[in-house]
Amino acid sequence: MESLSRRSFLRKIALAGATALGPGIVGAGQIYEGSKIVEAERVYRGGPAIIVDGKVIQPRREVPVICETDVLVVGGGCAGVMSALAAARTGAKVTLVERYGCFGGLWTAGLVLIVLATHVEADQGLKKCVRGIGDELLNRLLKIKGGIINQGPGMRDPTSDPEATKYVMAEMLSEAGVDILLNSWVTNAVMEGNSIEGILFESKAGCHAVKAKVVVDASGDGDVFGAAGAEHVRHIHRIGLVHRLGNVDRIAASKSGDKRSSPNLSSNTPLPSVRWVNMQGPQGDCLDIRTLTQCELDGRRAVWEKLKKIQQTPGREQVFMLDTASQLGIRASRTLTGLHEVTFDETMANKKYADVVAIGGAYAFVGNRACQIPYRALVPLKIDNLLATGRCVAADNLMLNYTRLIGPCLVTGHAAGTAAALAVDSKCRPRDADVAKLQRLLKAQGAYLG
Ligand SMILES: Cc1cc2nc3c(=O)[nH]c(=O)nc-3n(C[C@H](O)[C@H](O)[C@H](O)COP(=O)(O)OP(=O)(O)OC[C@H]3O[C@@H](n4cnc5c(N)ncnc54)[C@H](O)[C@@H]3O)c2cc1C
Repeated sequence: MESLSRRSFLRKIALAGATALGPGIVGAGQIYEGSKIVEAERVYRGGPAIIVDGKVIQPRREVPVICETDVLVVGGGCAGVMSALAAARTGAKVTLVERYGCFGGLWTAGLVLIVLATHVEADQGLKKCVRGIGDELLNRLLKIKGGIINQGPGMRDPTSDPEATKYVMAEMLSEAGVDILLNSWVTNAVMEGNSIEGILFESKAGCHAVKAKVVVDASGDGDVFGAAGAEHVRHIHRIGLVHRLGNVDRIAASKSGDKRSSPNLSSNTPLPSVRWVNMQGPQGDCLDIRTLTQCELDGRRAVWEKLKKIQQTPGREQVFMLDTASQLGIRASRTLTGLHEVTFDETMANKKYADVVAIGGAYAFVGNRACQIPYRALVPLKIDNLLATGRCVAADNLMLNYTRLIGPCLVTGHAAGTAAALAVDSKCRPRDADVAKLQRLLKAQGAYLG
């Protein structure tokens, strides 16, 4: 057999691929043959860290800029997806960076499936508060078999299927032309004085930068404003590992009592025999890696112990573990210190804000009232070109248990994206954006502002 050099062997493979699979595949062959991965490692990583005087030192290095954009959204949870869609629909060029491989964050990968605080009780029945892009997403889930339950006229606080939600989010982002970077973990901010010029993220290709005119921190944990040096509050909260159980419809009612009131099997999902089970979990620091690791390990052990007990109960033998969340249930870690903080007292006093940009629906903890969220709760005290959204907006210790619900996150996500695009278009800092114009834009996009 003719002996081939490695280079000519690879070229032959590339040509064979081109013949068999058409011109689109030639690129893949060329990437392999061109050894661009090796090049990337030399250029992007800048060499390994070194030891100097017993300390680990990361060398100074130039970081390549992978793209420049108008609005950069960090985090593809429910708030980040809303922000990216809103900014794109308002006319901005948008890049969305997400550390995992799917969208939805806690709502999907965290298996938190019930969208709370979507409506309030009104004289004429239920009044919808989560409108605009969030409601559009929920309605699109209705078109998918097994996509959502309790969504539609006369219903509130729907429960969605996580896979359908990931899929619909990705479709909506693609339709809106959002530039998406998955499997990309944002690690630092790029600053010039008080101005955030972009972010750094790590991926399998090493470290890259994205430059942006405005950055929306939708990481849930305030990773960007934390890195940028924005004032914020740290929280210790409960950390849980949510899971789903299958075969729940096979519980024999005769042996286990009334299966509709099965106390350990939590609530229904769009899938007929599947229940989702919430977990309170222990108090912990959600930024501490040892704590997070222990919570993953203990949480998994706890749900399996619980399952064993369920399976030992007569009539429930066939219940099985469908899945545990691939993302730990982090409730709160950092919240922004904003130009205004949403407080429990103001909310209970039905405070109305001139700069309201989002209204969440009823939740028992806030007396089932509609809750206003002002624009200033998204704006940092000092850092320019930055907005926060979702569960890390400025709220006091009590109200963060409301602002972090999926319903409110959908509406603050929408508001942040539209505000970011408006700031870009107006060539101003988000803090200087014309709030009346922002409110008009949000209403035109279907948002409910009271
Ligand atoms: C156990 C538990 C039960 C809950 N139950 C309910 C409930 O029943 N109903 C309800 O409405 N709400 C509930 N919540 C609250 C709600 O699920 C979340 O607060 C909400 O989904 C937060 O949305 P978010 O988009 O702000 O943040 P997240 O969902 O946390 O999204 C943040 C996104 O950013 C990504 N990200 C984070 N850091 C980085 C980084 N450095 N670089 C790149 N990407 C990053 C994450 O991967 C994620 O996709 C619950 C929460 C928990 C933990």
